[in-house]
Amino acid sequence: MIVFQSLTRKKLETLLLPLGGPRPEVRARVRAQQLFQWVYQRHVTDWDQMTDLAKELRVWLKENVEILRLKERQSHQSLDGTHKFLWDLGDSKTVESVVIPAALDSKKNFPKSGFAGLPQDERMDSERWKRLTACISSQVGCAMACKFCLTGVQGFDRHLKIQEIVAQIHELRRLAPITNIVFMGMGEPLHNIDAVIDACEILIDQFGLGFSRRKITVSTSGLVPAIYRLAKESPVCLAVSLNATTDEQRESIMPVNRSYPIHELLKACDYYSENHTKYVTFEYVLLRGINDSLEDAHRLVKLLRHRSCKVNLIPFNEHPGSEFKRPEDLQVRSFQRILLTSGMTATVRISRGRDILAACGQLRSLFGTARGSTRHRDWKDAIAPTAASLTSQTVEGSGSTISG
Ligand code: SF4
Repeated sequence: MIVFQSLTRKKLETLLLPLGGPRPEVRARVRAQQLFQWVYQRHVTDWDQMTDLAKELRVWLKENVEILRLKERQSHQSLDGTHKFLWDLGDSKTVESVVIPAALDSKKNFPKSGFAGLPQDERMDSERWKRLTACISSQVGCAMACKFCLTGVQGFDRHLKIQEIVAQIHELRRLAPITNIVFMGMGEPLHNIDAVIDACEILIDQFGLGFSRRKITVSTSGLVPAIYRLAKESPVCLAVSLNATTDEQRESIMPVNRSYPIHELLKACDYYSENHTKYVTFEYVLLRGINDSLEDAHRLVKLLRHRSCKVNLIPFNEHPGSEFKRPEDLQVRSFQRILLTSGMTATVRISRGRDILAACGQLRSLFGTARGSTRHRDWKDAIAPTAASLTSQTVEGSGSTISG
C-alpha cells in the first residue's frame, strides 16, 4: 500500500495519471487537489466519504492507498500549557512532538487538564491563540551527539519517513489550529533532508496543510552541504544551533564542528540569507561556565554583527544526568545586553514545558538507544554523498566554492 502522506501533490498527480480518462493531465491535477483538500483540510480518512470523487477512483484508492494515523502512546501536560505527545510509529519506535501555546489573553489560564483538555470549540478557536507552535521530530534519536542534548545522548535509531513527519502536524491540526512549525524536536532535520524537503512541500501546499513558508523553521546543528541544498530546494526559514564562538569550544560540545567549522557554517548561512530568506536565526544555548562569559558575548558580536540574522539565547534546560548547568539569570541578561547594545537583535527564549522534559534539548523517545552506539557516526556517511556532489561546485550567486 502507498501511504498518502508520503506523496507531494506532484507525486500524487503522477500516480493518478495512468488512471486515464479524457485529458488525463488535467484530470490527475484536479483529482490530486481534491484529495489533498479532503485529507488535509477536511481530515476525512474514509475514501467512501469523498463524495465528489468518481466511484472507480474511490475503489482504486481503497485498494492501493492508505492514510496514516499516528497513535498517541502518551501525552504530558506542563503547568505552563505546553503539551508533549509521544507517538507510536508502529514498529516499536516512538517520537515526540510538542505544542507550545501562546494565548491571546494571557489572563485566560489553562485548565488543569491543560491545552488538550480544553473543550473542542475553545481549543479550535483561532481567536483564542496568539500562536500555537508545533515542535516536531525528524528522526528517532539523533546521530549528532551534541553533548548538552538528551536526544543526542540517546543516539540515532532511524530517519522518520515523509509521512511520519507530515502526520505529526496532521494529527496536531485535528486538535488545534497550529500556526507555526519548528523542526526542533528529536533529530537533525538536515540529516534526513530528502524527507524534510518533501514534508515541507506538503506543509506549505495551498491544497495541503497550507502553512506560510515564513511560519516553518528548520533547525540544524550545522550540516553545511545540506544548508546549501535546502536553500535551493525549499523556501522555509533556517535556524542554526551555533552555541559557541570558537572552533575549539564548539568542537567540545558539538562534534559536527570537526567536519564543518564555524567559518564554513557562517558562509553557508550568508548564502541562505542572501539568496533565500532575509535572515537566519542563530540559536545559542547558554551553558554555565562553558560559553556564557562576557568575552563569549563580545566574540559572538564580532562573528554576527554584520550578518543578516537574529540571535535566540536559550539558557540551558537541565535534564537528569546532564553534566551542564543553567547560567544565572543575571548572567543571561548581561550576555544579552552586550548583543543588544551592539545593535543586534537578540531575544532570550523563555523555555516552556521544562517540568515535563518538553523544552529544547530535552526530548527523547521511549525506547532509546544508548550513547556510544556507532550510530552516532552515521551522519557522516549519510551526508557524504551530498557533500561529494556539492564539492567543487560553484554556488550560484555567491561565486564561492563549497568544501564538503
Ligand atoms: S541538539 Fe539537535 S542535532 Fe544536536 S543531538 Fe540534539 S537533536 Fe541532535
